[in-house]
Amino acid sequence: MVRITALDTYDVRFPTSAQLDGSDAMNPDPDYSAAYAILRTDDRGGPEGHGFVFTIGRGNEVQQVAIEALAHHVVGRRVDEIIGDLGGFARELTGDSQLRWLGPEKGVMHMAIGAVVNAAWDLAAKYAGKPVWQLISEMSPEQIVDLVDFRYLTDALSPAEALDILRRAESGRAERTAQLLAAGYPAYTTSAGWLGYSDDKLARLARDAVADGFRTIKIKVGRDVDEDLRRVKIARDAVGPGIGLAVDANQRWGVDEAAEWISRLAPAGLAWVEEPTSPDDILGHAEIRRRVAGTPISTGEHGQNRILFKQLLQAGAVDILQIDATRVAGVNENLAILLLAAKFGVPVVPHAGGVGLCELVQHLAMIDFVAISGTMAERAIEFVDHLHEHFRDPVRVADGRYLAPRAPGFSAEMLPETLRDYRYPTGAAWRSPVELAPTAQVSAKELENS
Ligand SMILES: [Mg+2]
Repeated sequence: MVRITALDTYDVRFPTSAQLDGSDAMNPDPDYSAAYAILRTDDRGGPEGHGFVFTIGRGNEVQQVAIEALAHHVVGRRVDEIIGDLGGFARELTGDSQLRWLGPEKGVMHMAIGAVVNAAWDLAAKYAGKPVWQLISEMSPEQIVDLVDFRYLTDALSPAEALDILRRAESGRAERTAQLLAAGYPAYTTSAGWLGYSDDKLARLARDAVADGFRTIKIKVGRDVDEDLRRVKIARDAVGPGIGLAVDANQRWGVDEAAEWISRLAPAGLAWVEEPTSPDDILGHAEIRRRVAGTPISTGEHGQNRILFKQLLQAGAVDILQIDATRVAGVNENLAILLLAAKFGVPVVPHAGGVGLCELVQHLAMIDFVAISGTMAERAIEFVDHLHEHFRDPVRVADGRYLAPRAPGFSAEMLPETLRDYRYPTGAAWRSPVELAPTAQVSAKELENS
């Protein structure tokens, strides 16, 4: 009878602000970070469950403490009870009668729950010997419905409707799994378009992206409209007319300003405009979408919970939904959002980048393809080529497509030397100005002592 013995946490930060990687209109100097969690067990030689919340630097220590506040839900518990009922486990964490006051179901505490729930999925998938996407794609429709918390959703999506969606997708699962394993899942890239990059770097990276097989690229906008017009034109000229060009305002505008600004950029032909305004402004998104008819509007990477996603869909506020693997309460809540999107016929184009978000969210898009929406049409997973070398099972992207992960787990596990060297503020990367690359393997014992 295996039990969880510890919920260990780490404040891991990468000094990415030095290169302006990840710079956008609202976040000019991110240090990509992870509030990292490991579920350890007394199963000697057995797997650990790894999970994390992505942050961009300051406040990562707050996120770490929020994860630690959940220890009483896991330490001492039987592993088979948790991984045998992950729906119940997720509901137990979001329903914590005291911690719930800090949300409910939003913000730092909710994201902490996401890290622990995702760590439990990593553990479950490792024990099952399968990647998370495959573990869930092979569950029965009834088992998947049981993972979802339908509280506050049933006016838009009942369990019976979710079951219908899953049953409709059940017949083609084997063919789609084979297709996924053979050809992967489409990706788009944001690597070219950070706001801090020069015009030359933007044009060069945009051309490189097309040469690498990407069919859509995205650039950051929102600092200055004339500058944006110039940069959109540079990107369009670099990639040509046949490539999708999306722009991302990172919540920069009010509703009126967004409508005006988007109208000026739209003639370049935009695949979508992302986060035009506050992530909480459901009616604002609907109004922007109405005023710029013809230019698709998207949001969701800062969507705090399934209820907000429900309302975005009910209000006809978006053309595209963008889930994030570590913003909501983990795999279970993202399954709810994927089912809602399928009900409303809105494509999900997952948010990724940062550190580890690509590794996690690819599993969710693949579950959507195999077991929920049953299609890759109008869909692609964001890809940014940063920091993958820190993971034990990094994403594999070839010819503009994510290849399906094969290793058991959630692809969440960072290398032990990364947890040592990038630990904030004592790791070597923070003691020396030079960014370190992972080097020799470090034993778990050394890590504990570091
Ligand atoms: Mg974005």
